[in-house]
Amino acid sequence: MKIVVLKFGGTSVGSIERIKNTAKIIISYLKQGYKVIVVSSAMSGETNKLVKLTKKISNNFAPSEYDSIVSTGEQVSCSLIAGRLIDKGFLSRSWLGWQIPILTKGSYSHSRILSVNKKKILQFLKQGGTPIITGFQGINAESRITTVGRGGSDASAIMMAKFFKAEKCIIYTDVDGVYTTDPNVAPKAKKIKKISYEEMLEMASLGSKVMMPHSIQDARLNRIDIEVRSSFKNLPGSLITKKKNISSNNIIRGVSFTKNDTKVTLVGVKDKPGVAASIFEPLFKNLINVDMVVQNISSNKRETDLTFTIKNDDLAKTEKLIKNNRKINFKKITIDEKVSKVSIVGVGMITTPGVTFRMFNALAKKNINILVISTSEIKISVLVDQKNLKKAVDVLHKEFKLDY
Ligand code: ASP
Ligand code: MG
Repeated sequence: MKIVVLKFGGTSVGSIERIKNTAKIIISYLKQGYKVIVVSSAMSGETNKLVKLTKKISNNFAPSEYDSIVSTGEQVSCSLIAGRLIDKGFLSRSWLGWQIPILTKGSYSHSRILSVNKKKILQFLKQGGTPIITGFQGINAESRITTVGRGGSDASAIMMAKFFKAEKCIIYTDVDGVYTTDPNVAPKAKKIKKISYEEMLEMASLGSKVMMPHSIQDARLNRIDIEVRSSFKNLPGSLITKKKNISSNNIIRGVSFTKNDTKVTLVGVKDKPGVAASIFEPLFKNLINVDMVVQNISSNKRETDLTFTIKNDDLAKTEKLIKNNRKINFKKITIDEKVSKVSIVGVGMITTPGVTFRMFNALAKKNINILVISTSEIKISVLVDQKNLKKAVDVLHKEFKLDY
């Protein structure tokens, strides 16, 4: 059986017109002789509405009931898709997670898909049917409804592709692929034909909002190729795949950035063993994600400055935790909420010397001051003033020959 998994995101099923269009796309694959497994998310905005309802009852809404309610949006969209296909003369039906079942493990609202009972779906496919499966949801060992994290229907689709050994997993969404950078910021952004899981993971976690990092990680671990395409324009998309499938000689695959960072500096921190741990322990315990960290070498061997970045949303909490922290001493705290992290990403930098220099040099030529630097094997990030963000993205995009 030639199976393809088609996943439709919220905007792709966001209205009746769009659901009709989705059915058209599904039919085009059926006509090519594919057996199609559809995974859909809820109509756009619906899941948010459901979350709001829970908040009206309680800020501490029971996690098991939370999953039960927020997963209902998918039932609506899947039934509408199936209904449309039936109306067009095709055999189709919707499936909820528990009806298959899709078994998950882990805590509510962050479960992971463990296994899928394939029997009924395979039978249906053999009869010529097209199953429309709810993304985002499953059940746990106690037969309770679970969800796999916001935006998680991508992960559902990837797991379907894995268990059903699909030839392709295509994510239909409202963008027509993965771009070298955000086209809204840099008009010279170009669609990337192929990108490795590793690069995509860095781009995703660095702020390119095409797919959630954990979905990409699922695809990487299971070696599932994913194609990202637009459901509104019939254009070739981007393929997320193994490194060895990519032959392009670009050193850098893309430039990504974040806009909502805050830089915190503790000036004059006592320089003794354990101070960094004392500063970060309460932040960690309060689930505040500390991103970039630099500690200056102390000039007098007694005091040092420590700088780190967090998300803007975490600032109030962080400030309070630092000020109430009896274990640390410092002279003053300075805060800059108008900073952005700009990163270049590419597996090519592993084997190419001089990338760091080229990056810094390009920024220097445009008079862009670098506030903090951090690196990993396949990315280099710099923190800059927010007012320099666009200039920095443009110059790096050009420097690494990504311009359109
Ligand atoms: N409907 C769910 C959400 O909005 C899952 C998804 O869209 O992937 O988070
Ligand atoms: Mg969604």
